[in-house]
Amino acid sequence: MYVTDIEVHQPMTLDEAAAELGRYAPDARLLAGGTDLLVDLKTGRVRVGHLISINRIAALRGVTEKNGGLQIGALTVISQLSGTPLVREQFAPILDATREMAAPQIRNVATVGGNIASAVPCADLPPILTALHASVRLWSPGGERDVLLEAFFVGPRQTVRRTAEVLTAVLVPRPAPQFGAAYARFALRDGNAIAVAAVAASLLLERDHTVRAARIVLGAVAPVPRLVEAAAAELRGRPADEDAFRHAAEAAREAAEPISDVRGSADFRRELVAVLTRRALAGAYRRAMESQAWSSRAG
Ligand SMILES: Cc1cc2nc3c(=O)[nH]c(=O)nc-3n(C[C@H](O)[C@H](O)[C@H](O)COP(=O)(O)OP(=O)(O)OC[C@H]3O[C@@H](n4cnc5c(N)ncnc54)[C@H](O)[C@@H]3O)c2cc1C
Repeated sequence: MYVTDIEVHQPMTLDEAAAELGRYAPDARLLAGGTDLLVDLKTGRVRVGHLISINRIAALRGVTEKNGGLQIGALTVISQLSGTPLVREQFAPILDATREMAAPQIRNVATVGGNIASAVPCADLPPILTALHASVRLWSPGGERDVLLEAFFVGPRQTVRRTAEVLTAVLVPRPAPQFGAAYARFALRDGNAIAVAAVAASLLLERDHTVRAARIVLGAVAPVPRLVEAAAAELRGRPADEDAFRHAAEAAREAAEPISDVRGSADFRRELVAVLTRRALAGAYRRAMESQAWSSRAG
């Protein structure tokens, strides 16, 4: 399908972008890497007369350390995120997601902001970032607000972002000592295949290895990345062992609300959720045990 006539605007600053949005909304969309939006325009899912490219806004680029946590500029592309030394050394759970996403060509243009703002239920970054207690920063001429990811998504391709707001950054807090997280996904092949089901898990352990806090977040099996409180409740206060993981996996399976499509039936996806939850919890537990803070205290 052809993309019909579209005017592309290239603001240099957030204020200019806001002015363009004010002028053309609702007949306008922000454009970042275009890997979601151009497909939507070609298939007719989205029809607008104006694209406001944010690619020249330098303030939206780069990954920096903030109080031991990460501030990821919205225009950071996936390959840049996964190549950042700070991410590689201290936020390895994010790499579980980035290494499986799409293919290198897409990872070189797809942005972190776009992966979140598009609110596609099978997107890979939202579940692991939610397990890491991340939030998004939303900017408009009226001010800035930070929204926790679990409160950001309201439906497939729907978020609480207002039309005038630009997602400027993702904030990932510094992991607590004895904290670990992991992401497990299933796709029909290794490269360039979206997730059929995915689970992110995080665990905060006591010194005796009981679970102080946990998060289980499902991807691709519900209208939004689903934080499953019932699964966390199965873990809290219990030893972090196979038995607890199995109970949490059952709660996660119950909470899944998958569809059936060409990639798999709803029943198959529910089964995947249980398996992936156990896998993600095992990974989260391993990372919590390996965490530097734990080793140095134990020593
Ligand atoms: C072949 C292929 C394979 C893929 N495989 C995967 C995969 O395995 N896993 C996965 O998660 N994704 C996958 N994707 C989807 C896609 O690459 C990602 O979702 C990408 O990160 C979107 O970012 P973008 O910069 O391309 O966004 P765009 O397409 O430019 O924008 C997407 C949406 O977000 C909005 N938007 C973008 N940036 C902002 C911002 N800063 N503030 C507010 N709104 C904004 C746009 O207006 C638009 O509605 C794949 C895509 C393709 C084409």
